[in-house]
Amino acid sequence: MSTPENPNSIFPKGDRASADYFTGTAWVRLLLPNDEAVHTQIGDVVFEPGARNNWHTHPGGQILIATHGVGYYQERGKPIQVLHKGDVVRILPDVVHWHGASPDSEFTHIAINSNTQNGIVTWLDRVTDEEYLSLGK
Ligand code: MN
Repeated sequence: MSTPENPNSIFPKGDRASADYFTGTAWVRLLLPNDEAVHTQIGDVVFEPGARNNWHTHPGGQILIATHGVGYYQERGKPIQVLHKGDVVRILPDVVHWHGASPDSEFTHIAINSNTQNGIVTWLDRVTDEEYLSLGK
C-alpha cells in the first residue's frame, strides 16, 4: 500500500540510499530478500528529482520496471534513455550503466536483481553532472 509520504508508490518509502553509491536523495525498500531458492532480489527505489545511482554492473543482470514519474537510464557509451511509468528495462550481466530521476521529476522503479548467485551489484564511479545533463547534447 502507499503511504502519505509516498503516495505515488504501492509500497511505503524505504530507507535512505547510501551516499556512497547515490548522488542526491533516494529511498530503497527491500521487497524480496535474496535467497538460494529463487536467486532473485527485488527492491522499490524512489529517486527525488536529480538523484541517480553511480555507474555500476550486475553480475547476474537486472530488470527495471518504471512505476512513477520520469527517469533516466544509460549504458556506457550510449545515449541516455528517458523512462516513463510502465517502461521495462532489461539489463544484461556486467553491462556498465546507471539509473535515476530526470532533473525535474521524481522517479520510482522496481528493481529486480536476477541470477544473484553470480553477485548482485558492483559499484563504480559517480555519474558526473556533465554525464547526467548530456541528454540531447
Ligand atoms: Mn542497475
